[in-house]
Amino acid sequence: MKLGIPASRIGGRHPLKGCPACFEEDEGRHGFAYWHVAEQLPSVMVCRKHRRPLQIAWDPVTPVHRRGWLLPKRGLKRDWIEVPVTTDEQMERLLSVATLSVHFAAMEPGTLDPRVLAKTYQLALRGRGLATEKGSLRIAALVRATRSHYRGIEDVPGFEALGSITADWPGLAGALARRRPRPGHPLKHILLLSMLFDTWAEFRETYSEALAATEEPIHSPAIDSHAVQLEAFRQNVIDGDSIRAASAKAGICTTTGVKWATQLGLTFTARTKSFTEAQKRKARRKLLAGSDVDDVATEFSVSRITINRMLGSDPSLQEAWRFARFVATRTQVRKRFQALLATHPNLPVKALRSIRGNGYMWLYRHDRPWLLDHLPALWQPSRLR
Ligand SMILES: [Zn+2]
Repeated sequence: MKLGIPASRIGGRHPLKGCPACFEEDEGRHGFAYWHVAEQLPSVMVCRKHRRPLQIAWDPVTPVHRRGWLLPKRGLKRDWIEVPVTTDEQMERLLSVATLSVHFAAMEPGTLDPRVLAKTYQLALRGRGLATEKGSLRIAALVRATRSHYRGIEDVPGFEALGSITADWPGLAGALARRRPRPGHPLKHILLLSMLFDTWAEFRETYSEALAATEEPIHSPAIDSHAVQLEAFRQNVIDGDSIRAASAKAGICTTTGVKWATQLGLTFTARTKSFTEAQKRKARRKLLAGSDVDDVATEFSVSRITINRMLGSDPSLQEAWRFARFVATRTQVRKRFQALLATHPNLPVKALRSIRGNGYMWLYRHDRPWLLDHLPALWQPSRLR
């Protein structure tokens, strides 16, 4: 969530993967096969040790919802789909992407500074003739280079997103390489890295070069405080604040807030302006007290969809509301039933149940102990059954 992965075009669905040759070795060595962490990285599609495509574990149901996913070969019976790698060239590309991914994932958090990284990309783009001295991208050359570099790879499952990204390569390279880079999915960084550098060592060398050439302090307070503000804003929206509320907290106007949210790739629903934060808090209190959705909607002059959405977006509120509704209904039904018994003290249960709104069935289903306690003696258990 923090990386914005679900909102990114790359998405967050990453099935488990493994190498059959590695599994066999695991079984020989340990008695069972296990999932290898490096092979689960979204950008790793081939086994570096055996230089062969990985197999994707295909489960009809999301594997995390089942217990059988813990080990690759035991427990859950599943289908395996081999990553289709058809040419040697594709294999080389995927091996390079896999190797870079493993190095990338093995770095301590915070090893790379985004602005130095951007400068590293700029140096490499210039070195490959894909950018001018001044830093503008040579777009036609960049598109050509990308197409030829990743030819055929967008057909590999898991890299489908590449197809949608490649159309926008100049934009992507520009976003990651500009002076104040935009955040990007790690997969995008790895694809750009793999295109610009032959080895991890070459990348690290260029990075050191870029770092040495950075004269200004890397952590300029102005940029840091902006980043902190932006991050707080994003977290508030993810936690359920409306854009309006998150903007107020960040001390910016809602228009800027909407702009930020769009830039950060946050999904948000535009809310009706008449439903203010204060009103929302009041409506929430009403719901917590078990008020009817229609009543609350009428009271605050909003649609019942708005109130239902409030409940739907907040599971704990919804649960509290349901419980409060249940208690309110129970109190009502009990009262009515007691009144009925008081007015018809000697009525047989059958006759009582024919009276409209008697509540007997409801109590029988939801409140049986109370019902048994309050029924007149002549109806007690044997008849009730
Ligand atoms: Zn292997």
